[in-house]
Amino acid sequence: MGRYTGPACKICRRQAMKLFLKGDRCYMAKCPIETGRPPPGMHGQRRSKVSAYGVQLREKQRLRRMFGMQEAQFRLFFERALRTRGITGEKLLQSLELRLDDLVYRLGFAPSRRAARQMVNHGHIAVNGRKTTIPSRVLKAGDKIQVRDRQASRDYATRFMDIAESRGIPGWLQLRKAQFEGEVLHVPTREEIAPVVNEQLIVELYSK
Ligand code: SF4
Repeated sequence: MGRYTGPACKICRRQAMKLFLKGDRCYMAKCPIETGRPPPGMHGQRRSKVSAYGVQLREKQRLRRMFGMQEAQFRLFFERALRTRGITGEKLLQSLELRLDDLVYRLGFAPSRRAARQMVNHGHIAVNGRKTTIPSRVLKAGDKIQVRDRQASRDYATRFMDIAESRGIPGWLQLRKAQFEGEVLHVPTREEIAPVVNEQLIVELYSK
């Protein structure tokens, strides 16, 4: 299946949850989830009984959509988490949070994960001083993410850094604004991870 290119808010409405796909608008009162718009479609408001499988599937879709990933790549992240020592669900969330596009978004260099991915693709970002164009690259503690020293790259990041800082940068990251640089201080614990999904349901879904 191809990449979804339709309205981002429709995805949130389908999942009945804010997935923060659009940048600033997501923090405003006019966000359709805040205004209480129902799920899309003719029967969007119909309340039907959801099976246990349906609940698990919805939780997986929420997390996958939040990170804007295709099913195959999401599954790959899950398989990797499964092979890593520790709690699978927690490992999955940690590896998603440590993706380069997520870090660029969390540090405020881009307004959304989608924009962050494009920024990486277009060569505006360096990791530990070396340009990288792989948004799905998973970083580790101590890695440094820089907006490359180019006028266009820094002008773009400047537009969003103040807004992101006022919302708050996660405690496991450090932003050095003047240097256009951020650092992963440590791998986030489950408590420090923002997505409010029940990752255990995703583990159960994939374990069938
Ligand atoms: Fe749209 Fe953002 Fe609200 Fe989602 S969270 S419905 S993308 S404004």
